[in-house]
Order: sequence, then structure tokens, then C-alpha cells
Amino acid sequence: MSDAATSAIIPAEGATEPLTLMGAGLVGSLLALYLARHGHSVDMFERRADPRLASGLEGRSINLALSDRGWRALDGVGIGDEVRQVGIPMYGRTMHDQHGQLTHQPYGQENQAIYSVSRAGLNRKLLDLVEAEPGIKLHFNQQCLNVDLRHHTIQLRDVTTAQEQVRPFRRLFGTDGAYSAVRGAMQKTDRYNYSQSYLEYGYKELHIAPGPNGTWQFEKHALHIWPRGQYMMIALPNLDGSFTCTLFFPYEGPHSFAALQTPAQVQAFFEEVFPDAVPFMPELGTDFFSNPTGSLVTVRCFPWAFNDEVLLIGDASHAIVPFYGQGMNAGFEDCSVLNSLLTQYGSDWHAVFQLFQTQRKPDADAMADLAIYNFEEMRDRVADPRFLLQKKIESKISAQYPGQWLPLYSQVTFSHTPYAEALANGRRQEQIMSGLMPYIQKESDYEQNQVQELLREAMSKLHQQI
Ligand code: FAD
Repeated sequence: MSDAATSAIIPAEGATEPLTLMGAGLVGSLLALYLARHGHSVDMFERRADPRLASGLEGRSINLALSDRGWRALDGVGIGDEVRQVGIPMYGRTMHDQHGQLTHQPYGQENQAIYSVSRAGLNRKLLDLVEAEPGIKLHFNQQCLNVDLRHHTIQLRDVTTAQEQVRPFRRLFGTDGAYSAVRGAMQKTDRYNYSQSYLEYGYKELHIAPGPNGTWQFEKHALHIWPRGQYMMIALPNLDGSFTCTLFFPYEGPHSFAALQTPAQVQAFFEEVFPDAVPFMPELGTDFFSNPTGSLVTVRCFPWAFNDEVLLIGDASHAIVPFYGQGMNAGFEDCSVLNSLLTQYGSDWHAVFQLFQTQRKPDADAMADLAIYNFEEMRDRVADPRFLLQKKIESKISAQYPGQWLPLYSQVTFSHTPYAEALANGRRQEQIMSGLMPYIQKESDYEQNQVQELLREAMSKLHQQI
């Protein structure tokens, strides 16, 4: 458990005020808890219906990978341990080649894992806690249509009755995701920087059924990848023995969503390229055409704050592609950072908002770059024996130089090193590896004098750079 978990939040005296929060997704719910624990009252608006009322009717589980940054933020409101009990640790990646041969690559040290958790389950858990907090009021079915920044009002539409209302706000937090309406209003202000870019790939969630008696058809404690160069499928385990698969696939081209138009085509294609998975996907043809195809967007914008009145957090300020499993973790880390600033600066909102955005923006940009980089690694490089050899050598270096060399994946996933710093370290490490790898054909070459000498030299330079 982290330090954040053990230190209780003490509200600053006389600092409480009514706050408005738009979007009760993962980040919004967690943020509301932090704000309430600082003594503020929070009105929370959410476009969707209460997901807890739909329980039982909802479709199959969709899961997310939770890692250290996320855990710290959950521990900070005291629910980390409870969520861990329903998470499945995944200690490494298992790659499936086209003949069904498996290769395994650990994520970190022996006991380090990322956790597969149900997105809906986590959201429900957070909402239960939100509801139990006397200072928070939840309003479901309320869609934000517009924010009037000058007059401090929000325009809401009840999606069940179509009735509209205008409400005043004093301070507003936009946690309404990648297509944020709050950000939409900020985008219309002078000198607002905004960009969005889409990958030429979409994603589709599919399903691997549980085995007999709820057993897992593949190794339960791994994230499975079927890397195929220009596309890939991944699978994360669920508690009921099933796996949620995600196919990342081009929209157009010879192997693409456009090229697969009938259940028979889908079946034949999967049998050819994912032969070991298909026998466990009995509803592939139906799933493929009934599940939506999602797009993959990166959103960058700045500023995240409008005066000291509005602040964007989570995907609303930095939506990234999902290949590092960090979108939610980064949004949760936003909550930890904001919590520290609130502890330090109390109700000096100007300081809190300004420091928050200047501190987090470089990290969000770095994470966006890392996420795109990891797509190439997952769909392509993990199938390359040279790449896997390099990873093994890197873990040897890490063991030989503890404290001086933490692999990039570990810095991002198992540490709290700011993302921008992790990216810079990763680039320096990559430079060193490109100098070493020409001398290494097999694992044991690492011990050779020439390699060790080159490494010693590189490490002393690395030390000087940091
Ligand atoms: P959201 O989860 O989008 O929540 C926004 C909320 O605001 C929603 O409840 C929405 O209904 C509400 N809302 C939106 N507009 C309005 C409006 N106008 N009025 C009122 N309410 C509104 N991250 C990880 O850390 N690990 C992973 O393994 C991972 N896997 C992913 C896989 C895929 C395929 C995708 C697409 C993303 C993945 N992510 C992952 C990223 C993660 O889903 C997001 O980063 C995370 O959900 C962001 O949380 P959020 O609360 O900021 O936004």
C-alpha cells in the first residue's frame, strides 16, 4: 500500500465550497471522493443512467489493466485492497504465433503484475462510495449541452424527459471524457490549443468463452497477444473464466474491417490468423457484427484551466490510445496530484489549478507518445526474437545495475516516475541498447568482456547525463 493510503486527508479549515463536476465515469467518481474528503460539497452530473441499476442486464465484461499509478490513487481513498480482490494479476505477456506457439515475456520482477479489472465493476464500486459520501449529490441522465464560461452556468438536458435547465456553478471540473462538452466551451476561448488525431485503426471487443467449470482456456495470469505485424488481437482474463478480446484492426486495406463483410469471411480469416483462439470463440460471427467498432483518438489541449473556475481532468484533457494500458491510470494519477496540491494549497484554487496543469501537461504529452509507440511494439516487435532477446538483456542490465536501470515499461507501469522523465530515460536506454545489441546474438553473449566494457562505459555516461 502506498503512503497516500495511510495519510488521512484533513480538510483545510473554512475552505469548503460547493463544486460542480461533469461526468461520473472512472476519473470523475474518484475525483469527487477526493474533493469531498477535502471538505467540499460536490454536485455531480452524468449523461448516462445509473449503471448500478442496469446490473444483470449489462452485456459481457469489458476489462482494463490497472497498475501502480492507479492503485496509489485508489489506495488514497481506501478502496485499493477491495478492488485488488476482484482483479486478476497478469505477470507478463503471452504471445501467440500463427501456429499457436507461445512465448512468454514477464512484465517486471517476479511478483510484479498489472491487474485485469472489470470497467463496469470498478465504476459501480466508485459510485457506491460516492453515494455514501454525504457531501456528494449524484444526478444521472443529465447531459451537459453547453457551458457559459462568462456567466458561470451549465446548460443540462435530462435525457429521459428532454427537459432542459440552466444551472449556475462556482467552480466546475470537466471529467466528461475524450469528447468533453466542458472542453468544447474552452475551445472557443482565445488562443486555445487543441488537436485530435485518429489512428487508421479501429477496435472491436470479442469474447473467449470460459472452459468447463469456469476454467480459463489460456493461462489466466497473463495478457495474451496475437501480434500480426499490421494488426493484433489481445485478451485479458475475467473472473468467470472468460477473456475479453480486443481486435485492433485497420479500417481499410486487404486485412481490415472493410474487407470482412460476412460471418463466413470473419470465420475464415480468424481460422487462418488466430487459429488457437477461434475454437474458444463460439459467437465470433455474431459478436463481430453486433459489437460496435471503436475509434482510437489522441487528444491534446492546453490550457486545462479556465481562470480558477474550470479545470479539465482525465480523458477530457488528455485522451490517449490504449496500448500502454495507462489512460485510466493517468487519469487516476491526476487525482493523486490534485489531492497533493489541495493538501498543500487548500482553497487557493488559482495556485492549485495553475500548478496542476503545468505539472501534468508534459507528462500527459509524454504518455500520449508512449502509448502510440507501444502499439508498434505490441502488434509487431513482440513477435521478433531479436526484440525478445533485447528485453532479456535489459533485465540483466537492470539486475546488474539496480537503481540505475529500470526498464521503460517498469518505469511507466510499476513506478511513479513522472511519465516525461520515464520517456526521456527510455530514449537514453534505447540509445545504449542500439550500441550493445550488434555484439549480442544470444543471451550468454551478455557476459562477454567486450559487451561488459561497452556497458560500463555507457552506464558511466548515463550517470553523468542524469
Ligand atoms: P470516461 O471514462 O470517458 O468517462 C466520462 C464520463 O462522462 C462518462 O461517464 C460519460 O457518460 C460522461 N459524459 C460524457 N459527456 C458528457 C456530457 N456531455 N454530459 C454529461 N456527462 C457526460 N486505460 C487504462 O488505464 N488501462 C487499460 O487497460 C485501458 N484499456 C482501454 C481499452 C480501450 C479499448 C479504450 C478505448 C480505452 C482504454 N483505457 C485504458 C483508457 C480508459 O478507458 C480511459 O482513459 C478512462 O475511461 C478515462 O476516464 P474518464 O473518467 O476521464 O473518461
